[in-house]
Amino acid sequence: MASILLHCCCAPCATYTIKSLREQDFEVTALWYNPNIHPYMEHQKRLESMQALAEQMEFPMIVSEGYEMPDYFRSVVGHEGKRCTDCYNMRLNKTAQIANDNGFDAFCTTLLISPYQNQSMLKEVGDKTAERNNTAFYFKDFREGFRESQQMTKEFDLYRQKYCGCIYSEWERFAKVKIS
Ligand code: SF4
Ligand code: SF4
Repeated sequence: MASILLHCCCAPCATYTIKSLREQDFEVTALWYNPNIHPYMEHQKRLESMQALAEQMEFPMIVSEGYEMPDYFRSVVGHEGKRCTDCYNMRLNKTAQIANDNGFDAFCTTLLISPYQNQSMLKEVGDKTAERNNTAFYFKDFREGFRESQQMTKEFDLYRQKYCGCIYSEWERFAKVKIS
């Protein structure tokens, strides 16, 4: 059985992704590292929800120490309209580093189940960060399981957030604007 480190940014997307990886015979460990989630209390709420899911689905979880929110802003300010690439890079690079340091066979991300994320960009960033850190990125389009993840979220009684994570996405969601 191959081991995989799964970067998770919320419990709802982790439900089906973990189920699917287990069905493919992976031994899954979750990683929490999301300096892009604002404000801090929202970050904590999503983390607590992940911890509740880890108990219910019985998987180990690594929680990266610290919040590193200032680093997120340092990497996106000045090109906010294209911020998602840097956001993916920051989170997947950390995941690849931890995967390599701890001897995982590969790493992956729950971002791949979201219909709102850029799959080809995730693949490109995943492959590059894997090469940089001497590990392997496991790419799979999990979007066919998005509906099932919503069902599982209800069954597990998990908190479901209303915006992607950063304050820009919160503004876009509620004011119905698009940052360029
Ligand atoms: S992409 Fe959005 S909905 Fe999916 S795991 Fe990340 S925060 Fe959750
Ligand atoms: S919209 Fe989501 S993926 Fe894009 S920068 Fe914000 S938190 Fe990251």
